[in-house]
Amino acid sequence: MGNRRDFLKYSGLAGGSILLPAARSAMGSAHPSVEKSSKGSPLKLRFRPYDLQLKHVFTIANNSRTSTPVMLTEIEYDGIIGYGEASMPPYLGESHQTATEFLKKVDLSSFSDPFELEDITQYIDDLASGNHAAKASVDIALHDLVGKILQKPWHKLWGLNRARTPNTSFTIGMDTPEVVKSKVAEADIFKILKVKLGRDNDKEMITAIRSVTNKPLCVDVNQGWKDRQMALDMIHWLASQGVVFIEQPMSKLAIEDMAWLTENSPLPIMADEAVQTVGDLLSINKVYSGINIKLMKCGGMRNAFKMATMAKIMGMKVMIGCMTETSCAVSAAAQLSPLADWADLDGNLLISNDLFSGVQVINGKITLSDLPGIGVQLK
Ligand code: MG
Repeated sequence: MGNRRDFLKYSGLAGGSILLPAARSAMGSAHPSVEKSSKGSPLKLRFRPYDLQLKHVFTIANNSRTSTPVMLTEIEYDGIIGYGEASMPPYLGESHQTATEFLKKVDLSSFSDPFELEDITQYIDDLASGNHAAKASVDIALHDLVGKILQKPWHKLWGLNRARTPNTSFTIGMDTPEVVKSKVAEADIFKILKVKLGRDNDKEMITAIRSVTNKPLCVDVNQGWKDRQMALDMIHWLASQGVVFIEQPMSKLAIEDMAWLTENSPLPIMADEAVQTVGDLLSINKVYSGINIKLMKCGGMRNAFKMATMAKIMGMKVMIGCMTETSCAVSAAAQLSPLADWADLDGNLLISNDLFSGVQVINGKITLSDLPGIGVQLK
Protein backbone atom coordinates (compact mmCIF):
# COMPACT_ATOMS: atom_id res chain seq x y z
CA MET A 1 0.00 0.00 0.00
CA GLY A 2 2.86 2.40 -0.64
CA ASN A 3 4.22 4.32 2.29
CA ARG A 4 2.58 3.08 5.45
CA ARG A 5 3.82 5.97 7.54
CA ASP A 6 2.21 8.47 5.17
CA PHE A 7 -0.92 6.39 5.18
CA LEU A 8 -1.13 6.47 8.95
CA LYS A 9 -0.44 10.20 8.95
CA TYR A 10 -3.19 10.92 6.45
CA SER A 11 -5.67 8.25 7.41
CA GLY A 12 -6.79 10.00 10.53
CA LEU A 13 -5.22 7.34 12.73
CA ALA A 14 -2.33 9.56 13.66
CA GLY A 15 -4.65 12.50 14.25
CA GLY A 16 -6.98 10.30 16.23
CA SER A 17 -10.56 10.83 17.12
CA ILE A 18 -12.20 14.13 17.98
CA LEU A 19 -14.99 12.30 19.72
CA LEU A 20 -13.14 9.85 21.93
CA PRO A 21 -11.53 11.28 25.07
CA ALA A 22 -8.06 9.73 24.71
CA ALA A 23 -5.83 9.55 21.66
CA ARG A 24 -6.35 6.29 19.89
CA SER A 25 -3.77 3.58 20.41
CA ALA A 26 -5.37 0.90 18.28
CA MET A 27 -2.93 1.36 15.42
CA GLY A 28 0.17 -0.78 14.98
CA SER A 29 -0.40 -4.48 15.39
CA ALA A 30 -4.07 -4.05 16.10
CA HIS A 31 -4.59 -2.33 12.79
CA PRO A 32 -5.59 -4.79 10.09
CA SER A 33 -4.39 -4.22 6.56
CA VAL A 34 -6.86 -2.29 4.45
CA GLU A 35 -6.02 -4.60 1.57
CA LYS A 36 -7.85 -7.45 3.18
CA SER A 37 -11.40 -8.27 2.22
CA SER A 38 -13.59 -5.20 2.14
CA LYS A 39 -16.09 -7.15 4.27
CA GLY A 40 -14.56 -6.14 7.58
CA SER A 41 -15.85 -5.05 10.92
CA PRO A 42 -19.12 -3.13 11.12
CA LEU A 43 -19.09 0.63 10.61
CA LYS A 44 -19.28 2.66 13.82
CA LEU A 45 -20.79 6.16 13.98
CA ARG A 46 -20.01 8.68 16.72
CA PHE A 47 -21.22 12.27 17.02
CA ARG A 48 -21.13 15.26 19.32
CA PRO A 49 -22.53 18.81 19.23
CA TYR A 50 -20.23 21.81 18.83
CA ASP A 51 -20.79 25.56 18.49
CA LEU A 52 -18.94 27.60 15.92
CA GLN A 53 -18.04 31.12 17.02
CA LEU A 54 -18.33 33.69 14.24
CA LYS A 55 -15.66 36.36 13.90
CA HIS A 56 -18.29 38.99 12.99
CA VAL A 57 -22.01 39.27 13.59
CA PHE A 58 -23.46 37.83 10.40
CA THR A 59 -26.49 39.60 8.95
CA ILE A 60 -28.51 38.56 5.90
CA ALA A 61 -31.89 39.72 4.63
CA ASN A 62 -33.93 38.29 7.49
CA ASN A 63 -31.69 37.55 10.49
CA SER A 64 -28.43 38.12 12.42
CA ARG A 65 -26.34 35.76 14.53
CA THR A 66 -22.95 35.28 16.28
CA SER A 67 -22.68 31.49 16.45
CA THR A 68 -23.73 28.42 14.46
CA PRO A 69 -24.55 25.03 15.97
CA VAL A 70 -22.85 22.09 14.25
CA MET A 71 -22.67 18.35 14.84
CA LEU A 72 -19.30 16.64 14.43
CA THR A 73 -19.39 13.03 13.29
CA GLU A 74 -16.94 10.18 12.83
CA ILE A 75 -17.32 6.81 11.16
CA GLU A 76 -14.77 4.22 12.15
CA TYR A 77 -13.95 1.11 10.20
CA ASP A 78 -11.01 -1.21 10.82
CA GLY A 79 -9.30 1.49 12.87
CA ILE A 80 -9.64 4.16 10.18
CA ILE A 81 -11.71 7.25 10.97
CA GLY A 82 -13.65 9.39 8.52
CA TYR A 83 -14.79 12.84 9.65
CA GLY A 84 -18.07 14.56 8.94
CA GLU A 85 -20.07 17.59 10.01
CA ALA A 86 -23.60 18.99 10.02
CA SER A 87 -23.90 22.78 10.04
CA MET A 88 -27.30 23.98 11.19
CA PRO A 89 -27.99 27.70 10.89
CA PRO A 90 -31.27 28.14 12.79
CA TYR A 91 -33.37 29.39 9.85
CA LEU A 92 -33.05 25.95 8.19
CA GLY A 93 -34.86 24.24 11.04
CA GLU A 94 -32.24 21.74 12.23
CA SER A 95 -30.57 21.95 15.65
CA HIS A 96 -28.38 20.00 18.06
CA GLN A 97 -31.56 18.38 19.30
CA THR A 98 -32.96 17.32 15.92
CA ALA A 99 -29.56 16.09 14.73
CA THR A 100 -29.05 14.11 17.94
CA GLU A 101 -32.47 12.51 17.54
CA PHE A 102 -31.74 11.67 13.93
CA LEU A 103 -28.21 10.34 14.45
CA LYS A 104 -29.36 8.14 17.34
CA LYS A 105 -31.56 6.33 14.82
CA VAL A 106 -28.62 5.58 12.55
CA ASP A 107 -27.43 2.01 13.01
CA LEU A 108 -24.55 1.22 10.70
CA SER A 109 -23.83 -2.11 12.35
CA SER A 110 -25.46 -4.01 9.50
CA PHE A 111 -23.00 -2.47 7.02
CA SER A 112 -19.57 -4.01 6.91
CA ASP A 113 -18.52 -2.62 3.52
CA PRO A 114 -18.04 1.16 3.43
CA PHE A 115 -17.81 1.06 -0.38
CA GLU A 116 -21.54 0.39 -0.59
CA LEU A 117 -22.12 4.14 -0.67
CA GLU A 118 -25.40 3.94 -2.55
CA ASP A 119 -26.93 1.44 -0.11
CA ILE A 120 -25.69 3.24 2.98
CA THR A 121 -26.75 6.73 1.86
CA GLN A 122 -30.14 5.39 0.76
CA TYR A 123 -30.56 3.78 4.18
CA ILE A 124 -29.71 7.11 5.84
CA ASP A 125 -32.09 9.02 3.60
CA ASP A 126 -34.94 6.58 4.27
CA LEU A 127 -34.65 6.92 8.07
CA ALA A 128 -36.64 10.17 8.17
CA SER A 129 -37.61 13.03 5.90
CA GLY A 130 -35.71 16.33 6.13
CA ASN A 131 -32.64 16.32 8.40
CA HIS A 132 -30.49 17.22 5.39
CA ALA A 133 -27.54 18.50 7.42
CA ALA A 134 -27.57 15.51 9.77
CA LYS A 135 -27.67 13.23 6.74
CA ALA A 136 -24.78 15.16 5.19
CA SER A 137 -22.71 14.63 8.34
CA VAL A 138 -22.93 10.86 7.88
CA ASP A 139 -22.38 11.05 4.11
CA ILE A 140 -19.26 13.23 4.51
CA ALA A 141 -17.74 10.96 7.16
CA LEU A 142 -18.41 7.97 4.94
CA HIS A 143 -16.76 9.62 1.92
CA ASP A 144 -13.78 10.64 4.05
CA LEU A 145 -13.45 7.06 5.27
CA VAL A 146 -13.64 5.56 1.77
CA GLY A 147 -11.11 8.04 0.40
CA LYS A 148 -8.74 7.24 3.24
CA ILE A 149 -9.06 3.49 2.63
CA LEU A 150 -8.28 4.09 -1.05
CA GLN A 151 -5.65 6.71 -0.14
CA LYS A 152 -7.12 9.11 -2.70
CA PRO A 153 -8.87 12.47 -2.39
CA TRP A 154 -12.41 12.63 -3.71
CA HIS A 155 -11.65 15.05 -6.54
CA LYS A 156 -9.43 12.30 -7.95
CA LEU A 157 -11.96 9.54 -7.34
CA TRP A 158 -14.50 11.69 -9.21
CA GLY A 159 -12.03 12.20 -12.06
CA LEU A 160 -11.78 15.96 -11.57
CA ASN A 161 -8.77 18.13 -12.40
CA ARG A 162 -7.80 20.15 -9.35
CA ALA A 163 -6.25 22.84 -11.55
CA ARG A 164 -9.85 23.74 -12.47
CA THR A 165 -10.94 24.85 -9.01
CA PRO A 166 -12.55 28.30 -9.16
CA ASN A 167 -11.76 31.35 -7.09
CA THR A 168 -13.94 31.46 -4.03
CA SER A 169 -15.95 34.53 -3.21
CA PHE A 170 -15.76 36.02 0.24
CA THR A 171 -19.02 37.14 1.81
CA ILE A 172 -19.59 40.69 2.97
CA GLY A 173 -22.61 40.76 5.30
CA MET A 174 -24.94 43.74 5.60
CA ASP A 175 -23.61 46.61 7.64
CA THR A 176 -22.95 50.32 7.71
CA PRO A 177 -20.87 51.73 4.84
CA GLU A 178 -17.83 52.19 7.11
CA VAL A 179 -17.90 48.60 8.39
CA VAL A 180 -18.50 47.31 4.85
CA LYS A 181 -15.42 49.14 3.64
CA SER A 182 -13.28 47.62 6.42
CA LYS A 183 -14.60 44.15 5.59
CA VAL A 184 -13.60 44.69 1.96
CA ALA A 185 -10.09 45.61 3.12
CA GLU A 186 -9.94 42.39 5.18
CA ALA A 187 -10.88 40.41 2.08
CA ASP A 188 -7.75 41.49 0.25
CA ILE A 189 -6.71 38.02 -1.02
CA PHE A 190 -10.08 37.28 -2.60
CA LYS A 191 -10.65 37.92 -6.30
CA ILE A 192 -14.45 38.03 -6.09
CA LEU A 193 -16.69 39.31 -3.30
CA LYS A 194 -20.19 38.21 -2.43
CA VAL A 195 -22.50 40.93 -1.18
CA LYS A 196 -25.66 40.28 0.79
CA LEU A 197 -28.49 42.53 -0.39
CA GLY A 198 -32.26 42.61 0.05
CA ARG A 199 -32.83 45.39 2.55
CA ASP A 200 -33.52 49.04 1.84
CA ASN A 201 -29.85 50.07 1.55
CA ASP A 202 -28.78 47.94 -1.44
CA LYS A 203 -27.38 50.74 -3.58
CA GLU A 204 -25.64 52.25 -0.55
CA MET A 205 -23.89 48.90 0.12
CA ILE A 206 -22.68 48.56 -3.47
CA THR A 207 -21.61 52.19 -3.67
CA ALA A 208 -19.60 51.81 -0.45
CA ILE A 209 -17.86 48.72 -1.82
CA ARG A 210 -17.24 50.34 -5.19
CA SER A 211 -15.59 53.28 -3.43
CA VAL A 212 -12.80 50.93 -2.27
CA THR A 213 -12.53 48.12 -4.85
CA ASN A 214 -13.10 47.25 -8.53
CA LYS A 215 -13.22 43.49 -7.92
CA PRO A 216 -16.07 41.55 -9.52
CA LEU A 217 -19.02 41.13 -7.17
CA CYS A 218 -21.76 38.57 -6.87
CA VAL A 219 -24.96 39.40 -5.06
CA ASP A 220 -27.10 37.22 -2.80
CA VAL A 221 -30.53 38.66 -2.06
CA ASN A 222 -31.77 35.73 0.07
CA GLN A 223 -35.32 36.19 -1.32
CA GLY A 224 -35.32 39.81 -0.15
CA TRP A 225 -36.83 41.57 -3.20
CA LYS A 226 -40.62 41.59 -3.41
CA ASP A 227 -41.43 43.18 -6.79
CA ARG A 228 -40.13 41.74 -10.06
CA GLN A 229 -39.93 45.01 -11.99
CA MET A 230 -38.02 46.64 -9.15
CA ALA A 231 -35.78 43.54 -9.07
CA LEU A 232 -35.10 43.75 -12.81
CA ASP A 233 -34.30 47.46 -12.57
CA MET A 234 -31.92 46.75 -9.71
CA ILE A 235 -30.25 43.91 -11.64
CA HIS A 236 -29.63 46.24 -14.59
CA TRP A 237 -28.05 48.75 -12.23
CA LEU A 238 -25.97 46.01 -10.55
CA ALA A 239 -24.79 44.79 -13.97
CA SER A 240 -23.49 48.31 -14.62
CA GLN A 241 -21.61 48.06 -11.29
CA GLY A 242 -19.60 44.95 -12.22
CA VAL A 243 -21.86 42.34 -10.61
CA VAL A 244 -21.54 38.93 -12.32
CA PHE A 245 -24.58 37.02 -11.03
CA ILE A 246 -27.57 37.32 -8.69
CA GLU A 247 -28.51 34.64 -6.19
CA GLN A 248 -32.11 34.04 -5.10
CA PRO A 249 -33.43 37.56 -5.77
CA MET A 250 -37.06 36.79 -4.86
CA SER A 251 -39.03 34.25 -2.85
CA LYS A 252 -38.55 30.62 -3.78
CA LEU A 253 -42.36 30.48 -4.00
CA ALA A 254 -42.55 33.25 -6.66
CA ILE A 255 -41.93 30.82 -9.51
CA GLU A 256 -43.58 32.84 -12.28
CA ASP A 257 -41.81 36.02 -11.24
CA MET A 258 -38.49 34.20 -11.08
CA ALA A 259 -38.94 32.69 -14.55
CA TRP A 260 -39.78 36.16 -15.92
CA LEU A 261 -36.76 37.66 -14.18
CA THR A 262 -34.42 34.94 -15.49
CA GLU A 263 -35.75 35.43 -19.02
CA ASN A 264 -35.23 39.18 -18.91
CA SER A 265 -32.17 39.53 -16.70
CA PRO A 266 -28.82 40.57 -18.18
CA LEU A 267 -27.13 38.50 -15.43
CA PRO A 268 -27.42 34.80 -14.52
CA ILE A 269 -29.97 34.13 -11.77
CA MET A 270 -28.92 31.41 -9.36
CA ALA A 271 -31.28 29.34 -7.20
CA ASP A 272 -30.29 28.78 -3.59
CA GLU A 273 -33.27 28.60 -1.23
CA ALA A 274 -35.40 27.32 -4.16
CA VAL A 275 -33.36 24.17 -4.67
CA GLN A 276 -32.55 21.74 -1.91
CA THR A 277 -31.69 18.45 -3.44
CA VAL A 278 -31.47 16.59 -6.72
CA GLY A 279 -35.23 16.02 -6.99
CA ASP A 280 -35.86 19.79 -7.09
CA LEU A 281 -33.87 20.30 -10.26
CA LEU A 282 -36.53 19.32 -12.77
CA SER A 283 -39.05 21.76 -11.33
CA ILE A 284 -36.70 24.76 -11.67
CA ASN A 285 -35.71 24.15 -15.29
CA LYS A 286 -36.00 27.53 -17.10
CA VAL A 287 -36.93 29.25 -13.83
CA TYR A 288 -33.28 29.91 -12.91
CA SER A 289 -30.00 30.02 -14.86
CA GLY A 290 -28.15 27.89 -12.34
CA ILE A 291 -28.05 26.39 -8.88
CA ASN A 292 -26.10 26.87 -5.68
CA ILE A 293 -25.30 23.39 -4.35
CA LYS A 294 -24.65 23.04 -0.63
CA LEU A 295 -23.88 19.77 1.11
CA MET A 296 -26.08 20.77 4.06
CA LYS A 297 -29.10 21.24 1.79
CA CYS A 298 -28.77 18.19 -0.42
CA GLY A 299 -27.63 15.64 2.17
CA GLY A 300 -23.96 15.32 1.32
CA MET A 301 -21.29 14.69 -1.28
CA ARG A 302 -23.04 11.89 -3.14
CA ASN A 303 -26.14 13.96 -3.85
CA ALA A 304 -24.06 17.06 -4.54
CA PHE A 305 -22.16 15.25 -7.28
CA LYS A 306 -25.43 14.01 -8.78
CA MET A 307 -26.85 17.55 -8.70
CA ALA A 308 -23.79 19.09 -10.32
CA THR A 309 -23.73 16.58 -13.17
CA MET A 310 -27.49 16.82 -13.70
CA ALA A 311 -27.43 20.64 -13.70
CA LYS A 312 -24.70 20.57 -16.34
CA ILE A 313 -26.72 18.17 -18.48
CA MET A 314 -29.63 20.65 -18.18
CA GLY A 315 -27.37 23.49 -19.34
CA MET A 316 -27.42 25.26 -15.99
CA LYS A 317 -24.60 27.04 -14.20
CA VAL A 318 -23.23 25.39 -11.09
CA MET A 319 -22.13 27.08 -7.93
CA ILE A 320 -20.80 25.34 -4.82
CA GLY A 321 -21.66 27.05 -1.56
CA CYS A 322 -21.56 26.34 2.15
CA MET A 323 -22.88 27.44 5.53
CA THR A 324 -20.64 28.62 8.34
CA GLU A 325 -18.79 25.35 8.82
CA THR A 326 -15.43 24.06 9.98
CA SER A 327 -12.82 23.13 7.38
CA CYS A 328 -14.30 19.61 7.52
CA ALA A 329 -17.50 20.28 5.57
CA VAL A 330 -15.94 23.09 3.51
CA SER A 331 -13.13 20.79 2.35
CA ALA A 332 -15.67 18.11 1.47
CA ALA A 333 -17.53 20.60 -0.74
CA ALA A 334 -14.27 21.84 -2.22
CA GLN A 335 -13.57 18.34 -3.60
CA LEU A 336 -16.43 19.00 -6.03
CA SER A 337 -15.40 22.55 -6.90
CA PRO A 338 -13.54 21.76 -10.17
CA LEU A 339 -17.05 21.13 -11.58
CA ALA A 340 -18.33 24.55 -10.51
CA ASP A 341 -18.54 27.81 -12.43
CA TRP A 342 -18.39 29.70 -9.14
CA ALA A 343 -17.66 28.82 -5.55
CA ASP A 344 -18.62 30.41 -2.28
CA LEU A 345 -16.57 28.34 0.14
CA ASP A 346 -15.58 30.83 2.79
CA GLY A 347 -17.59 29.39 5.71
CA ASN A 348 -14.52 28.11 7.58
CA LEU A 349 -12.86 31.52 7.27
CA LEU A 350 -15.71 33.22 9.11
CA ILE A 351 -15.22 31.26 12.36
CA SER A 352 -12.65 31.51 15.15
CA ASN A 353 -12.69 27.93 16.50
CA ASP A 354 -12.05 25.65 13.50
CA LEU A 355 -10.99 22.15 14.63
CA PHE A 356 -9.62 21.11 11.25
CA SER A 357 -7.16 22.20 8.62
CA GLY A 358 -8.02 21.36 5.05
CA VAL A 359 -8.69 23.18 1.80
CA GLN A 360 -6.71 26.39 1.41
CA VAL A 361 -7.50 29.62 -0.35
CA ILE A 362 -4.31 30.75 -2.09
CA ASN A 363 -4.46 34.04 -4.00
CA GLY A 364 -8.22 33.74 -3.88
CA LYS A 365 -8.29 30.31 -5.52
CA ILE A 366 -9.56 27.11 -3.89
CA THR A 367 -6.49 24.92 -3.57
CA LEU A 368 -6.91 21.18 -3.06
CA SER A 369 -4.20 18.93 -1.68
CA ASP A 370 -3.32 15.26 -2.14
CA LEU A 371 -4.63 14.37 1.32
CA PRO A 372 -7.05 11.45 0.93
CA GLY A 373 -10.78 11.49 1.52
CA ILE A 374 -12.12 15.01 2.03
CA GLY A 375 -8.57 16.28 2.59
CA VAL A 376 -8.59 17.32 6.24
CA GLN A 377 -6.47 16.81 9.33
CA LEU A 378 -7.28 17.57 12.94
CA LYS A 379 -5.52 20.72 14.11
MG1 MG B 1 -27.50 32.09 -0.80
